[in-house]
Formats: sequence, structure tokens, C-alpha cells
Amino acid sequence: MAIYLDHNATTPPAPAVVEAMMSVFSGLWANASSQHGPGQEAKRALGAARAATARALGCKPVEVVYTSGATESNHLAVRGLLAAAAPMRRRAVFSSVEHAGHLKLARTLAEGGVSVDFIPVHGDGTLDLGAAAALIGPDVALVSLMAANNETGVLMPVAEVAALAQAAGARLHVDATQFIGKLPFDFAACGADAVSLSAHKFQGPKGVGALLLRQGVCLAPQTLGSQERNRRGGTENLPGIVGMAAALEQLGGTAGVAAEAERLAALRDALEQGLARALPALHVWAQGAPRLPGTSYLRFGRLPAEVVLNRLERLSVAASSGAACSSGGSEPSPVLTAMGVPPDEALAAVRLSLGRTTTREDVDYLLAALPPLLEPLLRQAAETAVAA
Ligand code: PMP
Repeated sequence: MAIYLDHNATTPPAPAVVEAMMSVFSGLWANASSQHGPGQEAKRALGAARAATARALGCKPVEVVYTSGATESNHLAVRGLLAAAAPMRRRAVFSSVEHAGHLKLARTLAEGGVSVDFIPVHGDGTLDLGAAAALIGPDVALVSLMAANNETGVLMPVAEVAALAQAAGARLHVDATQFIGKLPFDFAACGADAVSLSAHKFQGPKGVGALLLRQGVCLAPQTLGSQERNRRGGTENLPGIVGMAAALEQLGGTAGVAAEAERLAALRDALEQGLARALPALHVWAQGAPRLPGTSYLRFGRLPAEVVLNRLERLSVAASSGAACSSGGSEPSPVLTAMGVPPDEALAAVRLSLGRTTTREDVDYLLAALPPLLEPLLRQAAETAVAA
């Protein structure tokens, strides 16, 4: 039995997505910018996908800028909005727990002379709103904040930060990569000027995503070309774009997303409660904070993550020690470090992320099979600690 509990890293493509993409690969391969019949047919498919995407995300079709995924969307938003800002606005504010690639971008900007500040988080992973208010002033060009953290699942106060940014006249970029598909989302209501998303996080294909850019907001393009109304050049990835639209449609609208969120939260709670009953050394980070329904970030005493992941592997359970891009390293998670977690605890971090393919049977299997493997290790670790 193979069980996949790493949905925050990526998700399996939905059958409807694969089917929609196959039909584009075989029948709609022309360039959507070509003037001939097949090109115009591809252009119509692009328009239909854009309309479906806009409907699902609560934005206008012109507000969708297709990209290769959230990493590119994040770069386009941050570099593009900074370059378009008034000269007196030279500061950028990021949360201290952004995705690893995004924090790298922030540090690169700082090295290039932009004044960059980071909003701290509390011990439970929630954003320090008081610090945010102190940092977001009239000299700020851009605030960049994730909607939900990829490791802890903690939800960030987007509406409150949007109000702060608006009062200061700053632009707000939101990285909603982990949020979209897991909780109901509406671009028009979210208060952000720009929002990043990646299709493979909600059962779409990899290598395609979008930046939703509020109509009327100016941004300097980072890849030049006439596609996407000059905002992102390059021949459109039509199979990916059609696949992303199919992935959004199969979420079932607000009601479908909300129902799935409720199902996953119940499974996640059953998993955490069952593990805690069997293994009292269990610690769950951000358990009391508002968080994504399917994300559980935990440690078993101080058992190193690789030991736990090895036992999970034996059980054919796929999980990770944190973000896929940084797991496998021996450094403690920067997210946990920002929360004030000491390195020996952070190096024990294991992330279980549930998704649409997760079943009650998966959870029951894990609850029956994992504690017997970890219990002797935890007992041994406790005895060693007493002897020392
Ligand atoms: N932001 C967040 C919060 C993410 O979790 C990820 C993917 N792990 C990204 C950005 C980057 O997405 P992609 O790799 O699809 O560009």
C-alpha cells in the first residue's frame, strides 16, 4: 500500500486534467499567436481557459497573467511592482517565513540596494501584526506576504495587512500557492494587488501558474514579448493553461472547496489525536493557530526527522521533513527558526500534508502501523536522556 502524505510539495494530477491536456497536445498544438485557422483555434481555447480560470478565482480574465508557476509569478510581482513604484518608495517588506525561493529573492534585492525588512512571526507561526504595522510606512513600495505557510500551514492575516498596505499607499503581493484549492479564495475580495499561484498544488500540471494582477495596477514586465498583454512574453503553454483551468473547475467552486476542507480538517485532527494518544512525546506546531485543513507539522520527541521518515518509508508512506526544496538538508527549517524553535527540535520536524486523494483508510493505517515502530525508539531515547 503506497500512501501519499506530501500534498504541500505537489499533488497528483486529476484525471480530468490529464484528459484535457492530452486533447490539447494532440489537436490544439498550433501557436495561439498565429493568424491561420489552427492558430485561431488555439487562441479560442486560450480565451476559454482564461475565462474559466477567472471565474474560479474571482477575477477578470484580463487580470490573469500566465506564468511558469509561483516562483516566476513571485519574481514578476516583486521585481515588476518595485520597478514601477514612485522613486520615493524604496522599501520592500516581506514576512520572515516566505517560501525559500522568495526569501532568496528578498535577500538578492537587499544586496542590490533595496531596503528590505522582514515581519517576524510569533511562537505559534502567526504573523506579528504589531510589527507589520510599525514596518509598513509611506516609504514602502511593496509588501509581500504568503496566504498560508507551506510548512506549518498557518494562515496569514491577508485582510489586515491589505488594510495596512492600503493606508500606506503600498502595493500588496500575496503568494497564495498553498492556499488556493485548499480554502475558498476570491481575488476581488482579498485586497491584494497581485496574487501568485501554481497549478500543481491543486491537481493541475507542473510548470504552469499565474499572477493575478488587479486591473489598472502597473508592473514592469520581466520577460519581454507581446503575449499576456506585454506583461509576460513567451509562447503560451496551452496544454498547461488548459490543464490548470480543468484543475480549478474540478475543485467544485466555493462549496466544493469548503466541503473538502472540512473533510480534510477532520482527517487531520483524527491523525493528530490518534498519534498523540499512542505517543505522548508527540508535539504539533501551530496546532492552536488558524491553519490549512490538511497540514500537520509535528515532531516525535526529538527523534531526528530522517529516522521517522525512514520508518514511514518502510510503511510505504511518502512524507517530508518540510519544504520539498529544502528537505534532505541538515539545516533546521528557517520557518521553525523564525518561530524561535531550537535546532534540536527543528531537526525533528516531519510534515504530513493530506489532500484530495487521502482517505480515512490511509489515516487508520498510519495510526495502526506507525506508533509500534516509533515507540521503542522514543523509549530508548528517554532512557538515554535519564542516564545522561
Ligand atoms: N510559494 C509557496 C508558498 C510554495 O509552497 C511553493 C512551492 N513549494 C512555491 C511558492 C513555488 O512554486 P513552484 O515551485 O511551482 O514555482
